Amino acid sequence: VNAPTLDRAGARRSDARWLAGIRADPSARALAVTADRVCLHDGRLAQLPLAELDGEPLLLGLVGATPLFAVDVTGHPRTGMAGLREAAAMLSRGEAGLAAYASALAGWHRRHPFCAACGSATAVREGGHVRVCPRCGAVHHPRTDPVVITLVADGDRALLGRQPAWPGGRYSALAGFVEPGETLEEAVAREVREEACVEVAEPRYRASQPWPFPSSLMLAFTARYAGGEARVGDAELEDVRWFSRDELRAAAAGSGPFALPPPIAIARLLIGEWIARP
Ligand SMILES: [Zn+2]
Repeated sequence: VNAPTLDRAGARRSDARWLAGIRADPSARALAVTADRVCLHDGRLAQLPLAELDGEPLLLGLVGATPLFAVDVTGHPRTGMAGLREAAAMLSRGEAGLAAYASALAGWHRRHPFCAACGSATAVREGGHVRVCPRCGAVHHPRTDPVVITLVADGDRALLGRQPAWPGGRYSALAGFVEPGETLEEAVAREVREEACVEVAEPRYRASQPWPFPSSLMLAFTARYAGGEARVGDAELEDVRWFSRDELRAAAAGSGPFALPPPIAIARLLIGEWIARP
């Protein structure tokens, strides 16, 4: 399944009768997931008969005429469960996106059983795309948290940072959550300033990637260095430094003292494109 071939059925999922019909459809399939794991079979997403799984079916959409759901199997151990990062490295981009979608949705339900407005237990509606509070009527939607990730370049050098928890030698593009009231461009400039004490200009959007740890959307940017001396600006990073193209080419090839994020990460796309430039 490629994500683009999935019809999310946004206009129909509020129709309870239509939902009941597709839930009862014997051809309905489901992905077995938890907030951070997904069930695989032969290196692909396992599409199990929905009727075989216990739990609230969360509608992902339609693949052709086939309804596809996710079911949270936390607490019901299954064989074939793999960590999302491990799975993403193995799956096609489309299936990795689908795994991210299913896990993010399941994780949101698991973390939001109660109304954020009044504390009452909420009920699942619209195939799992909203939770409704029976007491105060509030409608809660799954959230997606935007994160900007930026490759800052200055001619033949690029700025990367390193988090203490990463494997030894790994560096990546600078990233941080967008704050309320900010544009994406403002978030890019603020994050780079906070983390690396550097000013940037001309932020340019490149691509995006759902990142279900637990519910982020990574928004990848490039930006031009516009001043300041690179140094660690806050506690998130233990080092920031400039890299030459040759250093990053060596890291991409798996040689030398430095390492890059895994190919599934959008940071790797940004770095790979920069390395490839003449
Ligand atoms: Zn409420």
